[in-house]
Amino acid sequence: MQTLTNRAKPVDRSPMTPMEKLYIPGIAKGMWITLKHLFRRKATVSFPEKKRQFSPVFRGLHVLNRDEEGRERCTACGLCAVACPAEAITMEAAERKPGEEHLYREEKYAARYEINMLRCIFCGFCEEACPKDAVYMSETFPPADYQRKGFIYGKQDLLIPNPKDNK
Ligand code: SF4
Ligand code: SF4
Repeated sequence: MQTLTNRAKPVDRSPMTPMEKLYIPGIAKGMWITLKHLFRRKATVSFPEKKRQFSPVFRGLHVLNRDEEGRERCTACGLCAVACPAEAITMEAAERKPGEEHLYREEKYAARYEINMLRCIFCGFCEEACPKDAVYMSETFPPADYQRKGFIYGKQDLLIPNPKDNK
């Protein structure tokens, strides 16, 4: 059969020689390959004890930002959800009530804001689309989880702590 590349090697089906039947050269060859790899630089790291240095342009887990007074910046305009090619973002808007001016910067806010991290491709379009500087991507990534629902991040997971709470 005609191959698409010249990388295919025909299988040698000739009978084994007495030396090959001893398997010693084959075992020695295998051990030599193992030994060579013992002294090579490891391609893996012992995560989580060791962490890799990320690129300066790394895009990680999303963060919902607050303003300098600790108010939520997001106004639930939906631009991030529209820009998202993976349709990973959903939200529900709510009207700010009198007396909630210290909680929400705009008259409208996201009562529910969710990102499905299993859908997200970390493209950063949501961050670019946001007119309020409310969502940005941090230098960390979502931790592993055993269940799919653990990858749906809500406001409680995404919103940065209120700086006023630490005072
Ligand atoms: S990073 Fe890209 S895929 Fe992920 S939520 Fe934002 S726009 Fe969607
Ligand atoms: S994060 Fe930004 S773009 Fe997305 S709904 Fe909130 S204000 Fe709009």
